[in-house]
Amino acid sequence: MNSRLRAQVVIVGGGPVGMLLAAELGDYGVSTVLLEARASVSERPKASVVHARALQGLVRRGYFGEMVPRGAAAGVVEAPFRFAGIPGLSICAPASEPGPVLRRPQADLERLFERRARAAGVRVLRGHRVSEVAQDRDGVRVAAVGPSGRVECTARYVVGADGGRSTVRDLAGIPARAYGATASGLAGVVTLEDPEDLPSGWHSTPRGWTVVRHMPGAGTHVKTLDCSGAHPDRRLEPTAAELRAELARITGKEIAFREPRWLSRFSDFAQLACSYRFGKVFLAGDAAHMHFPVGAQGLSTGLQDALNLGWKLAYVVRRLAPEGLLDTYDAERRPVAGRVIDNTRAQLALMRRGPDTEALQALFAGVVAADRVSRHLSDLISGQDVVLPRRTRQSSPWEGRFLQNVSLRTAGGRRDVIALLRAGRPLLLVFGEADGSHLAQARHWSQVVSTVRAEPTPRIPCEALLVRPDGYVAWACAPGGDRLQDVLELYFGACPGRPVQQPAVAAGAGALS
Ligand SMILES: Cc1cc2nc3c(=O)[nH]c(=O)nc-3n(C[C@H](O)[C@H](O)[C@H](O)COP(=O)(O)OP(=O)(O)OC[C@H]3O[C@@H](n4cnc5c(N)ncnc54)[C@H](O)[C@@H]3O)c2cc1C
Repeated sequence: MNSRLRAQVVIVGGGPVGMLLAAELGDYGVSTVLLEARASVSERPKASVVHARALQGLVRRGYFGEMVPRGAAAGVVEAPFRFAGIPGLSICAPASEPGPVLRRPQADLERLFERRARAAGVRVLRGHRVSEVAQDRDGVRVAAVGPSGRVECTARYVVGADGGRSTVRDLAGIPARAYGATASGLAGVVTLEDPEDLPSGWHSTPRGWTVVRHMPGAGTHVKTLDCSGAHPDRRLEPTAAELRAELARITGKEIAFREPRWLSRFSDFAQLACSYRFGKVFLAGDAAHMHFPVGAQGLSTGLQDALNLGWKLAYVVRRLAPEGLLDTYDAERRPVAGRVIDNTRAQLALMRRGPDTEALQALFAGVVAADRVSRHLSDLISGQDVVLPRRTRQSSPWEGRFLQNVSLRTAGGRRDVIALLRAGRPLLLVFGEADGSHLAQARHWSQVVSTVRAEPTPRIPCEALLVRPDGYVAWACAPGGDRLQDVLELYFGACPGRPVQQPAVAAGAGALS
C-alpha cells in the first residue's frame, strides 16, 4: 500500500543526531516526519560520552536540567581524560555549567530524544528505509519502504542524519573528502572466563592497544587497535575467532571468553562532506563527518550540528528569518568537524607503535599534564574552543563566543543565562541604564527576540548582547561596531511584522533522482 505524507521538514535517520533535531523542530512547532530504517533503538555499544560544549548546548534546550549547578558557582570543574591514550589530561568547564563530561550510553540518549520528539508531535516512522530523495523549486520528495509498503513524503527541506554511509548524501550527489584507513580496530562485548586476564583501562604493547571496561553484570567491553595497517575489507563482519586472535597477538597470551554479544570493526577512515547544504538538502552528524573515535568526539560534534541547525530551520520554516540564515549552518559547523578530523589524526599518529613514537609518547606524557597544554587540549576535545566567525573586523570580540552561564539580577529576580535561553528565542540582554537605544532598535523584532534588562556584571563587560538560542553571541555592543538593528535584520529580516519573502529556488537546487 502506498501512502503520502506532507511535512515542513523530513529527517532521514533516527540515530542520536536525527532524533535530537526532530525533538528540536517539534519543540519549535515545525511539522516534522522522521524516517528511520531500524524498528527499534540498537543496543550495540557505541558512544558513551557527551563533551562539555554539547552538554552546555543541551541544557540550554532543556535537557539534563538536574546537572545545572545551583547558585553562582565560580571556578572550574575537571574530569580526568586521555589524549592519544596518554593519561594526565583534565577536561575542564566553568563550575557554573554542567559537566564537564556526561557519561551515558548512546542508546539511552536516542531513547530520550525520541521521547521528546514524539511528545512534541513529530511523526517518527520506524522500519522505514529511504531510497529516493529529489528536490525541485517547490521542495523535496523523499520515498521510503516500510512495513506497510511505500511511503512518499513531500516537504520544504530534508536533513540527512543517516550515518556515515549516508543515502541522502549519495542521492544528493554531495561529494566528501575522504581519508583512507591506516589502522584497524575491533570492538566487542564479551564474557571473560577469567576477568583478571584483561585488566581494565588502556594498555599498549609493541603490537597495538587494548582498551577494556568491565561492566558489572553486563560483561566486558573490549577494544583492540592495530596501528600497523588497515584491514583489507573494513565492511567485513568481524568474528569471535578474529577478536581472540587479535587479543592474543597484542597481549601475548590467550584470552578465553564466551560467545560475544556484540562485535564491530572500526578504523581511522575519515570523511568530511564538501558542503553541509545542497539546496534544500542538509547533512548532519556522521552523514556530514566521520573520524577515528579517539577522544569520543563524534557524538558531541553531531549533537551540536543538530542544535545549530534546529533553530535556524525552525525560524526559516516559520517565516521568521530569511532563507540565507541556513547558509550559516555550513559556514559554522563544517570547519569545526574539519578540526575534529585533524585532532583525531594527530592523536592516532601519537598512538602508533615504534621506537620514535615511544619517545614522543614519553615526552607527551609530561606535556599533556602541563596546565596550559592541558587547558588547550581540553578546550579542543570538548569543543569549548569553538568561536563562530565574526562578521566584520569592527565586531565586538564577544561576537561568535559562547555565553557562559552567569547569574543575573533582573527585574524578575535572579535568573541565569541557561534559564533565560530555555524558551528557545534569541535573547537581548541590556545591562544597567544603557541609553535605551538598544531597546528601541529591538522593538520591531519583539515577536522574535526576548529582551531582558539586567544589572551590570563584571563577568559580561558589555552594554548589551544578543544571544542566539544555541548560546552563541550574535552581536555585542562595541564602539564603531554594527548597530543592533542591522544584525537583527541580517538574522531575522527587515520587516518582522510581515512574513519574510522566501526566494522561489535556493542556490544549488536541482533534480536529484
Ligand atoms: C562501534 C562504534 C563505537 C563508537 N564509539 C564512539 C565513542 O566512543 N564516542 C563517540 O563520540 N562516538 C563513537 N562512535 C560514533 C558515534 O556512535 C556516532 O558519531 C554517532 O552514532 C553519530 O550519530 P548519527 O545520528 O549522526 O548517526 P547514526 O548513529 O549512525 O544514526 C544514523 C541512523 O540512520 C539510519 N539510517 C541509515 N540509512 C538510512 C536510510 N536509508 N533510511 C532510513 N534510515 C537510515 C540508521 O539506521 C541509524 O539509526 C562510535 C561508533 C561506532 C559504530
